[in-house]
Amino acid sequence: MENGKYQPLRGQVALVTGASSGIGAGVARALGRAGAKVAINHPGTHEQAERVVEEIRAEGGTAIALAADVSNEEQVKFMYSELFKQWGTIDILVANAGLQRDSALVDMTLAQWQFVLNVNLTGQFLCAREASREFIRRGVDKSRSVAAGKIICMSSVHEVIPWAGHCNYAASKGGIMLMMKSMAQELAPHRIRVNSIGPGAIKTPINRAAWETPEAEAELLKLIPYERVGEPDDIARAAVWLASDESDYVTGITLFV
Ligand code: NAD
Repeated sequence: MENGKYQPLRGQVALVTGASSGIGAGVARALGRAGAKVAINHPGTHEQAERVVEEIRAEGGTAIALAADVSNEEQVKFMYSELFKQWGTIDILVANAGLQRDSALVDMTLAQWQFVLNVNLTGQFLCAREASREFIRRGVDKSRSVAAGKIICMSSVHEVIPWAGHCNYAASKGGIMLMMKSMAQELAPHRIRVNSIGPGAIKTPINRAAWETPEAEAELLKLIPYERVGEPDDIARAAVWLASDESDYVTGITLFV
């Protein structure tokens, strides 16, 4: 407890990719409230990223913005070197950046296929690899956490539910599922925990068309027995738990929200 606030991530360093909007921004704000210093990665959306930084600072937290295209190896390495220059190390990676380029299979270009796989899947690999190198170098520091590091992959219900018209996106999320489980198995002896969050429908820019009019939202709600569309905060609370020692011994799972 700090100033009456429950801060399970106090003193830890977090990097959230694709954090200048939507779920990433919500997760970043929640990690900040939980006491972590938060790096807001963005692909060049400086103004939006700075807004999230300011929101975190306004709530008493610590944040910086770091530009990098997560699918570009050199940019990812540079982003981590900047992070380590600022804060020395990393404790929590939320590999959240993702996008859609929807098309019927028969019309899908190779560029659409590769773009989605590069950002959604290769981007998570590159960011997880760099974080893991630092987690292993530093090892466990019990003054920070009982784990050497925590990785949270932003997956989707479409890691298991097929999605006609979106085979590039579904393939990227299905890929994240086994990448995450394999990394969890491999990194467990280092006391690094790796888990995914599989959001259902959450109101963000990625799916604006599905909720922005009352008619569209009514259509979407037919698929949701809980009778409301999710908000970024629904995901953020799950991310704080997976990043904290409260979930020690939880690794290799997808938490569907
Ligand atoms: P969003 O479009 O608001 O967020 C995606 C973020 O990724 C954006 O901030 C964007 O700038 C960033 N990004 C895109 N390409 C990037 C790159 N090359 N490098 C760095 N950042 C990049 O949408 P969102 O819904 O918040 O999506 C966040 C994650 O949640 C995605 O991985 C998405 O697949 C997943 N997801 C969302 C939903 C939903 O219903 N909104 C459901 C399941 C999964």
